[in-house]
Amino acid sequence: MNCPHCDEKVPLTWGRYFKAAFQHHLCPSCGKRFKVIVTASSFVVLLVATVIAAGMPAVVAFFLAHNFWYTIGAYVFFVVVLVLPFDRWLDSHVRPVKPVD
Ligand SMILES: [Zn+2]
Repeated sequence: MNCPHCDEKVPLTWGRYFKAAFQHHLCPSCGKRFKVIVTASSFVVLLVATVIAAGMPAVVAFFLAHNFWYTIGAYVFFVVVLVLPFDRWLDSHVRPVKPVD
């Protein structure tokens, strides 16, 4: 993603991704704040990806193990392994940014 103030390319590291409260980021070049906009379409894409990538394995885990905790564990595992990296990629490559202040 590029800073809307100075157009510097800001790499979205995992540290920056998890520290960004309400999608607010601090540009390391100019020090100004900007926000990643979660559009409705990117939210729907993420929701569908979550159902496919984490919901379906959880359903499979439920029918294989008949155990509530395996189902929750499979869901959380696939959210962490597949959905969070996809959300970070959406933030970094797809979602628009706008200046704050
Ligand atoms: Zn900047």
